[in-house]
Amino acid sequence: MTNGGVVLLIEDEDEIAELLRMAFEREGFRLVHAADGESGLERMRDRDPRAVLLDVGLPGIDGFEVCRRIRAASDVPVIMLTARDTEIDTIVGLEIGADDYVTKPFSVRELVARVKAVLRRSEEAPVGRTALEVGDFVIDGGRREVTRAGAPVVRPTAREFDLLWYLADNAGLVLSRAQILEAVWGYDYFGETRTVDVHIRQLRRKLDGIPIETVWGVGYRIDS
Ligand code: CA
Repeated sequence: MTNGGVVLLIEDEDEIAELLRMAFEREGFRLVHAADGESGLERMRDRDPRAVLLDVGLPGIDGFEVCRRIRAASDVPVIMLTARDTEIDTIVGLEIGADDYVTKPFSVRELVARVKAVLRRSEEAPVGRTALEVGDFVIDGGRREVTRAGAPVVRPTAREFDLLWYLADNAGLVLSRAQILEAVWGYDYFGETRTVDVHIRQLRRKLDGIPIETVWGVGYRIDS
């Protein structure tokens, strides 16, 4: 049973690869393993995975650079596997377009759950309205892009788009980080609220003037 599709693992530790292969195949995925960045990028091209699990510490080109190259060509969900729980790794990974990360040693069961959540989110079209307006920005749910008169079209990453859509769909309401995590990431994130902050920062950078307000001590609100 491998109907879940291909998950690509780019990881130089065979032991982790073997553990994950068993876990993902039990859940119906086919796990394709690459032991370094170069061969990982080749598998990206020839296996067309639904999700990528990407180790940061790799021989040759590191995981951050691999992530940048993947993002240059694809919106595939990327989950970084980081060895150190340092803020810098986390933020760098998310800023270059990773959807999520786990810190080693991680629970295999939790990683599988995160992959499933990421796939659900990235493949679900927003329901209901097909476009939302925020100020003079138009958020197109079908094309998953943002337009503004006189400005180039912006295509945020899958997760950034879902976050923006959620805020815009609840325009005027203050949303807590926990609420946002639950709605956009789809599972209990064990208090990793800086993931929300980093994604908000990316949206503000990509969409200059987007009226996302920080509500200190609570969360965020978009004004329409
Ligand atoms: Ca490694």
